[in-house]
Amino acid sequence: MASYDYDLFVIGGGSGGVRAARVAAGLGKRVAIAEEFRFGGTCVIRGCVPKKLYVYASQFPEHFADAAGYGWTVGPAKFDWRTLVDNKEREISRLEGLYESGVEKAGGTTFHSRAVLVDDHTVRIEADHRTVTADQILIATGGRPNPHVALPGHEHCVFSDEIFDLPELPNSIVIAGGGYIAVEFANIFHGLGVETTLVYRGKEILHHFDQDVRRLLHETMEKKGIRILCHEVFSAIEKRADGRLDAHLGDGEVLVADQVMLALGRIPNTDELGLEAAGVERGKTGEVLVDKFSRTNVKNIWAIGDVTNRVQLTPVAIHEAMCFIDTAFRDKPTKPDHRTVPTAVFSQPELGTVGLTEEVAASGFDEIEVYKAVFRPMRNVLAGRDEKMLIKVIVDSKTRLVLGAHILGPDAGEMAQLLGIALKAGLTKDDFDRTMAIHPTAAEELVTMYKPSYVVKKGVRLD
Ligand code: NDP
Repeated sequence: MASYDYDLFVIGGGSGGVRAARVAAGLGKRVAIAEEFRFGGTCVIRGCVPKKLYVYASQFPEHFADAAGYGWTVGPAKFDWRTLVDNKEREISRLEGLYESGVEKAGGTTFHSRAVLVDDHTVRIEADHRTVTADQILIATGGRPNPHVALPGHEHCVFSDEIFDLPELPNSIVIAGGGYIAVEFANIFHGLGVETTLVYRGKEILHHFDQDVRRLLHETMEKKGIRILCHEVFSAIEKRADGRLDAHLGDGEVLVADQVMLALGRIPNTDELGLEAAGVERGKTGEVLVDKFSRTNVKNIWAIGDVTNRVQLTPVAIHEAMCFIDTAFRDKPTKPDHRTVPTAVFSQPELGTVGLTEEVAASGFDEIEVYKAVFRPMRNVLAGRDEKMLIKVIVDSKTRLVLGAHILGPDAGEMAQLLGIALKAGLTKDDFDRTMAIHPTAAEELVTMYKPSYVVKKGVRLD
């Protein structure tokens, strides 16, 4: 066997890459990992982690308002953007350090450099102007926001990468997109007191999620004061003399705002990575093509996470990393399982979901039962907050299998995480019915809806 500098070289220090590097090093493999920006990648540095912190920050005005119904008098509140940005920075720097030191403590080597493939076993460490060789190579370079270059004036827009570090909180923002990022940031900015407009090309925000939760979230966001324009796209963005932006819509309306954010999906980071030199094939969106074991067409080169454009979620990248380790280093070939992935949108209210939507289940199963509860969460009652929660469970009438669960309301993400176990285990509605409720909780609805709200047979709803 040829001798290489490393058993494994990982390109990209995000959640997937770091996990693979750390675990492989822990197995005694000679491992190196290169990251050109900051260890932690999108999730830690400019994604999930700072986003959740900003969600918390944006919720305080509602907490202050709700406090009155519980007898509290809250004094005048004031928000300081700089404090939030600085505190966020401190926390992500801490996590960044843990990500890097985790690899090093396991015995791996870290490079702060861009790394480029030279051939199928050779990587150039750009910052050091040298090459190293590796038996196995893992590409985990993630993705970046779609810059939407076809839009005239796109250069005036901001993206999720830089949104956390704006020099100041805008007074107004227009956000394009109807996916996770657009919806989450519309709620964050609105909560922080920014006049917020969401512009989405489709009929209803959050395509691919269950219709009922989409509709109720839309209504609730509008009631809070977020303007949502569906069936709309930008035709151009122009900078005014005063520095503000004109966002021209297809119907001729012009929205004036301090910032325009584009959240139109993310594209894989595969440019100038040396993929051609190594002979690695890419797909239509530039993604690295892999088989079911995350192996590329080159047998010693693998790819995981967003760069493969399968399911763009951090826990999925980590799962793919663990499967890669089993396959490449533990002699236990393991395919990542991309079915029944629980997910949450950190909108306000929060959305948590796992399994099939009613629409998908209705088209794939002869008959389904839909159990649905819409109610005001207890916490909102004394607060005087007229905000509804929705819990919906989809069941296959024939097998009684729970096919999907969809929740909109406080802690929906936490609930979806636990429901993910139940659905993964293939539990039936009868198992749910046998489960004792915890009272008073919102989640008790999940186990106390004994009669279907309606049935859908051969795609037709029977009330
Ligand atoms: P999404 O895929 O969620 O949404 C992209 C949105 O942009 C969709 O509404 C899409 O419309 C719209 N769009 C795409 N192209 C155009 C176009 N040319 N013109 C107008 N609209 C367009 O991507 P995001 O950018 O919101 O997030 C990227 C990924 O990051 C997500 O897929 C998600 O997996 C991950 N993420 C996860 C989070 C979480 O777990 N909470 C949080 C944030 C991100 P349409 O629906 O019609 O296709």
